[in-house]
Parts: sequence; structure tokens; C-alpha cells
Amino acid sequence: MLTKTTIKDQLVSETYKLIEDATKIAITTHISPDGDAMGSALGLYHFLYSIKKEAIIIVPNQYASFFYWLPDSNKIMIFEDNKEQVNQSLLSCDLLIMTDFNTLSRIGQLQNTVEIFKGRKILIDHHQNPDNIADVIISYPTMTSTSELVFRLICRMGFYEKINHQCATCIYTGMMTDTGAFTFNSNNPEIYFIISELLTKGIDKDQIYNNIYNTYSAERLQLMGYALNAKMEILPEYKTAIITLTNEELKHYNYQEGDTEGFVNLPLSIKGVVFSVLIKENSNTVKLSLRSRGSFPVNQLAATYFHGGGHINAAGGESYTTLNQTVEKLKQVLPLYKEKLKVLEA
Ligand code: 5GP
Ligand code: MN
Repeated sequence: MLTKTTIKDQLVSETYKLIEDATKIAITTHISPDGDAMGSALGLYHFLYSIKKEAIIIVPNQYASFFYWLPDSNKIMIFEDNKEQVNQSLLSCDLLIMTDFNTLSRIGQLQNTVEIFKGRKILIDHHQNPDNIADVIISYPTMTSTSELVFRLICRMGFYEKINHQCATCIYTGMMTDTGAFTFNSNNPEIYFIISELLTKGIDKDQIYNNIYNTYSAERLQLMGYALNAKMEILPEYKTAIITLTNEELKHYNYQEGDTEGFVNLPLSIKGVVFSVLIKENSNTVKLSLRSRGSFPVNQLAATYFHGGGHINAAGGESYTTLNQTVEKLKQVLPLYKEKLKVLEA
């Protein structure tokens, strides 16, 4: 059984009331949505339709092609592709549910529209220290994923029966991707109870794994090989690995959104490496992905030095200098963490 007290009663009843009163509900999630953002938003969307509520999903920018199979993902509106129309649609809703982010800067330019949105807002998220950006804030950083929270919330509102196959598929996808297919942050026995419930809804967990992890292009694998072979630097004194990729290199391997997903985790399989950073040129900024094993809080480092945040073992950030300057900055910061890194099991 699930622990009933996980989500406070008051938050459950407030959410129920806002959904009940709403006529048209918008769901939005963070820029470059990952599996949990997609899964929580689409899971909610399917749930809302199953209780006969009109809903739309808006994401800030295009999502990776390995999510195209998610049920009804083709109905998602992409802000960057048609800003005017998407703004109009959002402003025509009277409730906005935001999933899988804790600060409005995570939704890019869509922030401007959310700020003038007149309806009520609910935030469902598992990142630490959420900003005060909604009327109801459901924030539980110990959860595997926002998708898990969506499952718990639906059940607590008394709608377990309304979770259909599509909804269950989306929720499982988010739980799976945010735990590296249940290889980290996945020791709470209750998540296997939830998976068992999702299986009774008819999900095909093996197929979901295949859809996410086994549908890449050959070029993506070649880019991975190149990144590991030619672009990975290991700094043994800091138990750290850094991979850099320039725009030119990405272009050479016909980079598509999502192609570098998972690269940053690879160096953590090396004995002696507990901290891994992927630094990648974007169109006009430099994007960092940070991962760690054990108690090294990469979200703190990302927030302090790279305008970012995230979770203890998985975080991201941005830099507005060049790729090389970003690497230099990281190397200047590392000595400050030497003692913390030294004591970690490798
Ligand atoms: P990824 O490395 O997969 O892009 O991101 C890992 C995690 O770090 C995400 O789930 C998200 O929580 C967080 N994250 C990534 N990029 C950013 C960012 O630019 N700002 C903040 N605050 N968090 C980020
Ligand atoms: Mn998440």
C-alpha cells in the first residue's frame, strides 16, 4: 500500500477543487522536456480527459523524437513553433498545471505568458526549494519523479479507476527515465507497488524501455563513441570526468534533439569517477549537464556557478561564455570541492 500521508490532505482537496471548477486546463512543463516532464504532463492530460475535462499541453520547445510514440504526444503544442497561437490558447484556459520544474526561468520565454495568466495555478514537482509560483504547490523532492507524484495525486483524489492504459504508460515512462530505469534513486519499496498497479492497467514495461532506449540513430551512437574516445577528459585528483562537444562536432554527427541524452552518465561507470560533466554548445549558450554518485550535490555546484539547479545527483546549468571558458571556470571551481570529492567512495 502507498503511504497516505505523502501528499498533504489539504493539497489534495485544493487540487481536486481547482480541477473540478476549471472549464479548460493547460498543462505545461520545462524547456527541452525529458521523460518525466513528458510523462507527467501527458499522464495528467489522459487523466483529465478520462474525467471529461478539456485540457491542452504546451511545451516551450521541440521534444526528442524518442518520445513521439507516447500516446497523444502529437497533440502537444510547441510554443517556439507558433508563439502567438500558443499564447492565445494558454490565455483561454482558466487553470494551469505546471509539472517537473521549480522556477519560471525553466520555461524560457513562455514565462512571460505564464506571468500574465489570470487563472489559477498548480505546481507538481520534485525539485528542491520551489519558487512561490502557484496557488497550490505540490513539491516532494524525495519522489522518484513528478510522474510518481501525478500517480499518487490521482489516487488520493479517489480516481484510481480513471487511470487508463495511456495514462499509466506515460506515468511509468516518467518514473523509469528519472531513475535510469530504476538504477538510482529507486530504493523506496512503494515505487514497485506503483509499478505493480501500472502493470495491472496493462502497460508493457519492456516495450516502454525499448521505445525510449533502443530507438536511436546510428549517428547518435557514433557521436557517443567520438565523445568518449576523443572528448573525455579525466581528472583523477578530483574523481571527475568532463566531456565537451562543440556545435561543429554535433553538426558533423547530424545531431538531433535528445541525441546526447545519457552521455553524461557514462563516465560514472569508471572506477574512480564520482562526478561527471557534459558541456555542450547550444545555438547561443553553453549547456552543462552534471551527474554524481553518492552524496556529492551537483545541484549546488550548478546553482552557485552555472545559473542552474536540479537534484543532488543530476543537475544542469548554463554558461554565457565560450565553451573553453566554461571548461576553465569548472576547473577553477573543482579545487573548492576537492575535500568533498576525496572522501567519496569511487
Ligand atoms: P539534464 O542534465 O538531463 O539536462 O538535466 C538534469 C536535471 O537538472 C533536470 O532534471 C533538471 O532538474 C535540472 N536542470 C537541467 N538544466 C537546468 C537548468 O538550466 N536550470 C535548472 N535550474 N535546472 C536544470
Ligand atoms: Mn523530473
